[in-house]
Amino acid sequence: MTHWLELDPAAQAGQIAALGFPRFRVGQLNRHLLTHHSFDPDTWTDVPKAERAALAELAPNPLTVVRAPSADDGQTIKTLWRLADGELVESVLMAYPGRSTVCVSSQVGCGMGCPFCATGQLGLRRNLTAAEIAAQVIAAAREPAFPRLSNVVFMGMGEPLANYGPVLASIRLIAGPMGISARGITVSTVGLVPRIDQLAKEGLPLTLALSLHAPDDELRDQLCPLNRRFPVAEVLAAGRRYFDATGRRVSVEYALIDSVNDQTWRAERLGRALGRRWAHVNLIGLNPTPGVKWKASGRQAEFVKCLAATGISVTIRDTRGQDIAGACGQLAAAD
Ligand code: SAH
Ligand code: SF4
Repeated sequence: MTHWLELDPAAQAGQIAALGFPRFRVGQLNRHLLTHHSFDPDTWTDVPKAERAALAELAPNPLTVVRAPSADDGQTIKTLWRLADGELVESVLMAYPGRSTVCVSSQVGCGMGCPFCATGQLGLRRNLTAAEIAAQVIAAAREPAFPRLSNVVFMGMGEPLANYGPVLASIRLIAGPMGISARGITVSTVGLVPRIDQLAKEGLPLTLALSLHAPDDELRDQLCPLNRRFPVAEVLAAGRRYFDATGRRVSVEYALIDSVNDQTWRAERLGRALGRRWAHVNLIGLNPTPGVKWKASGRQAEFVKCLAATGISVTIRDTRGQDIAGACGQLAAAD
């Protein structure tokens, strides 16, 4: 059965009418889920007790917590979720001064096969539904000790643009009734060019992150096998078009790997390939992944210096959650 959160307003009204409940239950149920972040019918106190079970059947919580270890003095929580069919996914909640960010999964596993990424090693098991994605955000917004949830990043398990429809439907809930600004939502992709162009036309000021990791096709073919279909120049041209269409500066993600992609000539080449108006670079230290022999680069400072000398703005991503395998590329949902 289609989850309540995936129904359009007319279909939601139809379900409520079929139960013989008053029409305003539609708005009440949506508020409980998306504004009060509660799937628990016992908290829906403005709904008569006799009606709550039927509503909860339309809108069950698609996620059950398996475990939720914390790190960074309680400022990071990685939650392992079990889905209704037994599959497992993870999300990571991070507190910053005055606000929080949640990193959500969009697929169980990933079919893109990047060899440095733990999720890629699972292969693609299935796509998540919009309700399963939105429920990760709802759970994050509900977390009591955390500041206001302001940012959602699609940087957990999966390639979001390979699950386009459900990802967009979840974003329309998050940026709509949940009230999180579209500017605070980042969609990270390994470079599905046609889907980047489609995203640019959605009329949403989302932040796009391009996982590049190499400025040259020879190396990127190996680090991101999708590069053989959509090479560096095409991915960057799509990023540029995204900026032109939305006015949103694109974040180019680059995980520095020791003696693989951390040479100063690659920093210069990367800087030359990007435009300072439309792109900025976010460097990530490679996080350890079981079975991966590569290590984080020790030449980050030199790389930053060379890149900055080309005029491109550079930031360095923090290593939140590394000790609970909650950092980028470490999400593998092993039970
Ligand atoms: N599939 C999407 C989003 C999920 S991956 C994408 O690839 O963009 C989120 C980010 O983590 C990407 O930038 C990805 O390249 C990066 N990443 C993957 N494995 C990593 C690792 N072992 N260390 C650091 N970053 C990694
Ligand atoms: Fe998939 Fe992104 Fe991991 Fe590549 S880096 S395997 S695209 S999740």
